[in-house]
Amino acid sequence: MREIDHFIVGGSGAHAGRVSNVFDPNTGAVQAQVALGDAALLDRAVQNALAVQPEWAATNPQRRARVMFEFKRLVEANMQELAELLASEHGKVIADAKGDIQRGLDVVEFACGIPHAMKGEYTLGAGPGIDVYSMRQPVGIGAGITPFNFPAMIPMWMFGVAIACGNAFILKPSERDPSVPVRLAELMQEAGAPAGVLQVVHGDKEMVDAILDHPSIGAISFVGSSDIANYVYQRGAANGKRVQAMGGAKNHGIVMPDADLDRVVADLSGAAFGSAGERCMALPVVVPVGEGTAERLIEKLLPEIASLRVGVSSDPQSHYGPVVTAEHKARIEAWIGKCADEGGKILVDGRGFTLQRHENGFFVGPTLIDHVTPAMSSYHNEIFGPVLQIVRAADFEAALELPTKHQYGNGVAIFTRNGHAAREFAARVGVGMVGINVPIPVPVAYHTFGGWKRSGFGDTNQHGMEGVKFWTKVKTVTARWPDGSIDGGNAFVIPTMG
Ligand code: NAD
Repeated sequence: MREIDHFIVGGSGAHAGRVSNVFDPNTGAVQAQVALGDAALLDRAVQNALAVQPEWAATNPQRRARVMFEFKRLVEANMQELAELLASEHGKVIADAKGDIQRGLDVVEFACGIPHAMKGEYTLGAGPGIDVYSMRQPVGIGAGITPFNFPAMIPMWMFGVAIACGNAFILKPSERDPSVPVRLAELMQEAGAPAGVLQVVHGDKEMVDAILDHPSIGAISFVGSSDIANYVYQRGAANGKRVQAMGGAKNHGIVMPDADLDRVVADLSGAAFGSAGERCMALPVVVPVGEGTAERLIEKLLPEIASLRVGVSSDPQSHYGPVVTAEHKARIEAWIGKCADEGGKILVDGRGFTLQRHENGFFVGPTLIDHVTPAMSSYHNEIFGPVLQIVRAADFEAALELPTKHQYGNGVAIFTRNGHAAREFAARVGVGMVGINVPIPVPVAYHTFGGWKRSGFGDTNQHGMEGVKFWTKVKTVTARWPDGSIDGGNAFVIPTMG
């Protein structure tokens, strides 16, 4: 059995400790076991990080940027191998796995501009003989705790920026698909980052708690489900750390009567069923505005869904592959049943789907459910599977209210030809990321990613300048170099600059 070890300086040593199974979701078979670390192992990683971080922070920013350039080159050179490895543990199709890696590389590319992004501010002559300047300095040791669904992109969102800023970084990836994060850390070292700048520790709640409690870790970035995000935020903040914690989602796609329905159906199909719906920016709820729109939309959606090809992740013909585990498959199927019990009308039922010669794989067929209402728990909760729920809205105001009142506020999309409606919607909707005729509005790397309400705890987003802010502390210096003729004034009064 393949063993997936931690990636820490000096090696993890013999570990007779706990392990967790890593499946191939295509076959249902256990393909590897990952070591689950504890507080003692984390402390070794932290000591390694402490030993190297001052030297890394003192490396001038253009040299740190060159390491990021080289890392990007190496990841690109290994793209196929990484994508295959990712797909084999996650289950997403290879082309989508490449997209996962590429979206992370986009952030690394942004981080290549770190010399510019970290520049401070300077005010000459803020007072008599007084200049004021600010500088950004790394937090020190940063940690990232990441979910299974983007095992390349989300770690790179975090460590791409954190390392470029001069931090040492400890990554705790999902224990369900931990191999690609380890490969990325190997490549970072190969790119020239000193050993200890990027380490990977594996584990579950025990390791997460150790990270939240370790006194030498200054900032923690978390992405995962909302209850755990909230827990990480509360415990990390109570320990005096800087914490950003992104949570779950239930994104709505509003379809106005004037929308180009052929385009909408193509967009919805990819956004609802791509990656088996296991994306925090998927569109699992569609809101047609007006009964006529609903009927026309369903008429076009049904053949589109019938044409979807569910298959193994290595098959280039597959639109999407299996979900991550048998438990998750069972959970998705239970939500479909619950939605029907609550009064939803199942138009396409993906339960009980099996793929020939892969009968034990964790496949779920595409599912479409009509007449879903805000009163249903299956609407209120995240299903995170290839399930599209239709919530009919009478008019624009009713449609706007749905995502605004929902407990999650990650992403939302409106499909319309009416610029005024789109503008009004973007301004008023209570959600963090808005798409206008864009089904998955994940912002580009130099903008910033983050949801509202239970989709995001803490106040700083991922990547872009928000990422630079999160991974750095500002120091402001007030310097006086008087020429001798300036009267220092009364030292017992709060100084003013006149
Ligand atoms: P998860 O919450 O189960 O796990 C996330 C991380 O938390 C993992 O590293 C896991 O090991 C750790 N963890 C699990 N249980 C824990 C516990 N009890 N205490 C402390 N740590 C624990 O999430 P997942 O299933 O891996 O990922 C899917 C979820 O992530 C979905 O809810 C999805 O919406 C969300 N997500 C959000 C975003 C975003 O940016 N908002 C992006 C991707 C995924």
